[in-house]
Amino acid sequence: MLQVTVEQQDQQTRLILAGPIDDQAGPALRATLPQMRKQVLVNFSEVEYFNSLGIRTWVNFLRVLRDGREVAYEHCPMDFLQQINMMPALSQGVEIQSFQADFACKSCGFEKSIGFTCRIGKAALREEMGRQVCERCGSSLSLQEDAESLLLFLKE
Ligand SMILES: [Zn+2]
Repeated sequence: MLQVTVEQQDQQTRLILAGPIDDQAGPALRATLPQMRKQVLVNFSEVEYFNSLGIRTWVNFLRVLRDGREVAYEHCPMDFLQQINMMPALSQGVEIQSFQADFACKSCGFEKSIGFTCRIGKAALREEMGRQVCERCGSSLSLQEDAESLLLFLKE
């Protein structure tokens, strides 16, 4: 069951989501709408997964949420970004501020999720992703996805 936490600060509402976004997420999401201020920042760090009905639920919710408001996403998990890249309606008109990318070490098998900020731009992101080092053995870490494909959602 999706847990939704609402935090208010000045003109901004932060919507913190935890759990699965599925066909049952709709009522919990819609219940927050009366509390939404002009700017809405959605935190996805604790979202477990989106299933296909959840994607539809989210697209419908976003349409209403965006009406008269600025919406941004933060801490998007990598699989959500992959879904956004396939289905741009998931982030239509939304600024994606930050995301998590999954890395693995080919030498020792160590796996790690690392956070990135989109503000630095695509070229700098590509560079930063290319120089991650394994904290266990010192080899370079590989992104578990092609960087170009992952960054499709960013224009520059
Ligand atoms: Zn390693």
